Amino acid sequence: MINNARSANVEIKGNANGGGYICAPISLLPQSYPKYAFDGAVMLSGPFGLLVDRVSRDGDFLRGALCEARGVDEYTNKLLLLYEGIYLDERTYDDAGGGGGVGRAWGEHARSADRLGILRSDYMLHERSMESGGGGGGVTVDLDDELRRRRYSLKQVELNTIASSFAGLASKVANMHSFLTRRMEGNNEGGGGGMGEVANFLNENDRAVGGKGGDGGTMDGRGVPANPAMTRLPMAMAVAYNRYVARYLRPSSDDGGDDDGDGGDDGGDAPISSTSRPIVLFVVQPGETNTVDQRMLEFALWENHGIPVVRISLAEAYDRAVLDESTGRLALIESYDNDDDDFISTTASGGEVAIVYYRAGYAPTDYPSGMHGIEWLARERLERSRATKCPNLGYHLAGTKKVQQELARPGAVERFFPDDATTARLLRSAFAGLYGLGADADVDDLRAVGEVLLRGMEGRYVLKPQREGGGYNFYGADMARKLGENCDVSSDGSVALGPALSEFILMERLFPPQQRAILLRNGRVEGTGMTISELGCFGTIVASGDGDVVHNEYAGFLLRTKFSGVDEGGVASGFATLSSPYLC
Ligand code: ADP
Ligand code: MG
Ligand code: MG
Repeated sequence: MINNARSANVEIKGNANGGGYICAPISLLPQSYPKYAFDGAVMLSGPFGLLVDRVSRDGDFLRGALCEARGVDEYTNKLLLLYEGIYLDERTYDDAGGGGGVGRAWGEHARSADRLGILRSDYMLHERSMESGGGGGGVTVDLDDELRRRRYSLKQVELNTIASSFAGLASKVANMHSFLTRRMEGNNEGGGGGMGEVANFLNENDRAVGGKGGDGGTMDGRGVPANPAMTRLPMAMAVAYNRYVARYLRPSSDDGGDDDGDGGDDGGDAPISSTSRPIVLFVVQPGETNTVDQRMLEFALWENHGIPVVRISLAEAYDRAVLDESTGRLALIESYDNDDDDFISTTASGGEVAIVYYRAGYAPTDYPSGMHGIEWLARERLERSRATKCPNLGYHLAGTKKVQQELARPGAVERFFPDDATTARLLRSAFAGLYGLGADADVDDLRAVGEVLLRGMEGRYVLKPQREGGGYNFYGADMARKLGENCDVSSDGSVALGPALSEFILMERLFPPQQRAILLRNGRVEGTGMTISELGCFGTIVASGDGDVVHNEYAGFLLRTKFSGVDEGGVASGFATLSSPYLC
């Protein structure tokens, strides 16, 4: 399990191209994790998929939630402007200066296109006794004998809807941890002195999370669970891909084609020749170091489903992706002259794009040419096509931190499940305390700010801007300073929030149980010490333009482990290591 290390700050043996690979940061052994909480995360995958899909289609909600943040964060504003122009406005192609569009809606192809979500909902275990509201009781699973152990509830850190990574590497790590623990746990065959130690290590950590291993008890399903990420992510892509093929390339197909996503012909349809097979476009960052994780997905798409991938940056997409305005067909050509307006029809080069999969585009730095530059123009062009976007703009916006916080307001998540109070309650149970810092901040929001500014409780909260990728949050004294600089506190103790805060949310800080771990970085032991972990649960969803959900399932996991003293998370950003849960 390796990372492209071209830009990593370590000495490695390069290959002929000057590149090279290093081991991704890992935890030597898995971390104990209560099975009830893991099962709860799995159970939440489907409901969170539905929530994202429903939020993505509710323009009023998204605009309301983000109306203040867009005023101070031009990146969020740009996403929302594109979303409005393509999915909400009645603007036509002619209005937009295209000419010859005979009144077609600017976003008509995008609106009717399928949507693909590869989501990763991230959680921390949180001491029940520390809960400050928000969700309340936590996920409950009907396993009575587990109840006494439920010292922790499962709380969502965030929901990633774009470029959710580490499905590939996490599967490999789970295999390694599964091997190591089964080979060594309680097994002294072969006589290694370390074997009993592994068992002791695991039992000690089991006790830390209230598991059974520490009691010497037994449990079905104890150990590292199988991680299906590298079959389920490609499968969801294949479902979306085969729907595209059935709709546009085999229009005679009766039922939407191979919806089971096995990539095979279920009979009837003539196979698509390999030269006319459409592609999945991976939109990646130039200079990406986490390439191995992405390549594993690419190879699995090919091996399991015969689906070809082409990797391209947003800037390259501007030069090479051509949109046929009349049909919405998106194709890749070798090079494309953007000064030439005559791009209505394209030659069939075999590069038709069925799915646009973003592993870039989630950060302002992915658009170096500025708000009207080529990267944003490329994003808009890709979005307006009939290709299935992963994610489309609505899914992307549904994953913003401000939306997460707005969904936690009383009645908000419930509004998306009018006939299903049980699902709404389940989702809400995973919400931590979330507080808005805009002009509509309510009494709870202001109380939270007051606790930081007036009562020295900055250790109980995290301040988060509208950013993705790790490294942006404020903690402790930095957070108090940031809040203080942007608030007026009057002599009676009341707090007035400054407008710059409206792109931030304040979140209850979570305190997962600490466990001992040995962490490796650059292939060497970085240290041994107390750590905390964050569970990521992949979920995939495929839905039609009309809102029919044709696929929605749990799709694997990721555990990231970091030393307890480290505030931030993120493997690529250098804070955490890849690990696995050892269910107990
Ligand atoms: P990003 O989109 O940048 O990953 P996150 O919300 O996941 O943003 O925050 C980054 C990291 O900060 C998380 O991986 C976690 O380690 C830490 N973190 C975020 N929220 C909390 C919280 N409420 N309590 C404790 N740690 C948190
Ligand atoms: Mg994120
Ligand atoms: Mg995160």
